[in-house]
Amino acid sequence: MLLSDIKNMSIAANLQEIKNSIPPTVTLVAVTKTKTVAEIMEAYEAGQRDFGENKIQEMTQKYEQLPKDIRWHMIGHLQSNKVKYMAEFVHLVHGIDKFTTLVEIDKQAQKHNRIINCLLQVHIAQEETKFGFSYDEISTLLNSNELQLFKNVKIIGLMGMATFTENEIQIRTEFQALSNYFQQLKIQYPQFTSLSMGMSSDYNIAISAGSTIIRVGSAIFGGR
Ligand SMILES: *Cc1c(COP(=O)(O)O)cnc(C)c1O
Repeated sequence: MLLSDIKNMSIAANLQEIKNSIPPTVTLVAVTKTKTVAEIMEAYEAGQRDFGENKIQEMTQKYEQLPKDIRWHMIGHLQSNKVKYMAEFVHLVHGIDKFTTLVEIDKQAQKHNRIINCLLQVHIAQEETKFGFSYDEISTLLNSNELQLFKNVKIIGLMGMATFTENEIQIRTEFQALSNYFQQLKIQYPQFTSLSMGMSSDYNIAISAGSTIIRVGSAIFGGR
């Protein structure tokens, strides 16, 4: 489908089409970065409740203006000094790529007497620019005792972004490797329930590789 076609369809219709094409067990996070409160409300009215933003301040502003039963997903790179703004309400933090970010989330979550669910971001793409831990770094982190010190952070899985390429075989290979690693960890860590991978261009590949959460923006709301 061309982007110009997507723009001509309604947000509700786009959502319905995606929902119909994915298994009911997969969580669809509607990514609303740069989109208006009115556009988000259109998706909300269509029944959508999981929304994702990549900047803490933008997410916080939208949270304040929108219905409180929305589950807000922070999907972007995190700046520790902004964690305090979202600690009261964030539903799931996808992009943990530093131990120190977890320390800050734990501290801020404690102030609100909450446990914040987090995913560790794994660097699976070939590009240098994408954030995330290597597989080795994740293993080291999980094998250390450090994670047990957190009382208000719960690691419930992994997140990854494939290389930006037209080569579907490469995308599939990257997703499958992450999924295999996730399945392996699940045996040892039963709290690992969530694998966040797949965006507008590659969510079908991600789901067939075992994704449980997809993050879809432009296929719902049109281009940015
Ligand atoms: C923007 C964004 C998405 C959604 O991208 P689309 O191609 O518009 O579906 C997914 N994940 C992350 C981390 C993003 O920043």
